[in-house]
Amino acid sequence: MTALRPEVAESDRARQPDGAPSASGGTDLVQLHESIAALLASRGQWRQAYQHLRSAFDLVCADQEEEPQIPEQLRREVDRLRREHAEAREQSLRDSLTDSYNRRYLDQRLVAMVSERGATRGGLAIALIDLDWFKQVNDTFGHLLGDRVLQRVVELLQEDLPEGGFCARYGGEEFVLVLPDVDPASAVEITEAARMRVERHAWASLAPGLRVTVSIGLAYEPPAGDAVSRPPVAPEQQLLRADSLLYTAKQSGRNAVAYREGGRVRLAGPASGRRGIAESRVVGY
Ligand code: GH3
Ligand code: MG
Ligand code: MG
Repeated sequence: MTALRPEVAESDRARQPDGAPSASGGTDLVQLHESIAALLASRGQWRQAYQHLRSAFDLVCADQEEEPQIPEQLRREVDRLRREHAEAREQSLRDSLTDSYNRRYLDQRLVAMVSERGATRGGLAIALIDLDWFKQVNDTFGHLLGDRVLQRVVELLQEDLPEGGFCARYGGEEFVLVLPDVDPASAVEITEAARMRVERHAWASLAPGLRVTVSIGLAYEPPAGDAVSRPPVAPEQQLLRADSLLYTAKQSGRNAVAYREGGRVRLAGPASGRRGIAESRVVGY
């Protein structure tokens, strides 16, 4: 930006003695602003690009004695920049392989949700999901197929999410489901249903003999008003708890949802009958 300033000063010299731009100077300035806007847009500096287009537009309007006409080309350019800005922002929050939200989005939303929680009624459930034996899937069927499995898993996890819920890629073959405004029983139900969808999916249609399951750690945080006995936890802390419960689900035989109820760790659904549920690594409850 700084390097462009001398050029602007150069064009300003085209002004008439009274400070008003001469006809050709005004046109030069408009073109200059448009060029700078194009350059900034190509660098992704949308806000500054928009400001230069705005200045070009103001100059054109100032030149008009009658009803100001918005040049069609300028209007289209501004629309295009706005659209590209919105698309670039959306893309920066998505994972390129699975198209689920990415870690950046997850971090931003969790912070926002916690700060809003005083005003919202419901609790917040965070489920950390890890594919079982996924290294073996890659080793047996290849990385490309592994990638397709990750895409399919995301589609299955995203089905039937409650309003405001979303799925984000936490990293590698780990994903997070965020479920705002749910009660503990619904959180278990929704998460167990997601686990079951993955287990029951027709994986053999992707590759004969392929089978995919996930293990899930589900950490629930009650609404602010309900947490009388302890202060609300930060999102990182809740994620740590989910991670600890995920470890329990893995140690207890995988393909299961682990959660806490009444201070005890439990497994949801058919896995609840398993013996020897491993205790979590992190206590902190
Ligand atoms: P566990 O049940 O204990 O989780 O076993 P696992 O094999 O799933 O766990 P491990 O951490 O040993 O292996 C994870 C594998 O996930 C290894 C890594 O190559 C694979 N992986 C991570 N990201 C991607 C990806 O984007 N595409 C593919 N194809 N594989 C990935
Ligand atoms: Mg993992
Ligand atoms: Mg895994």
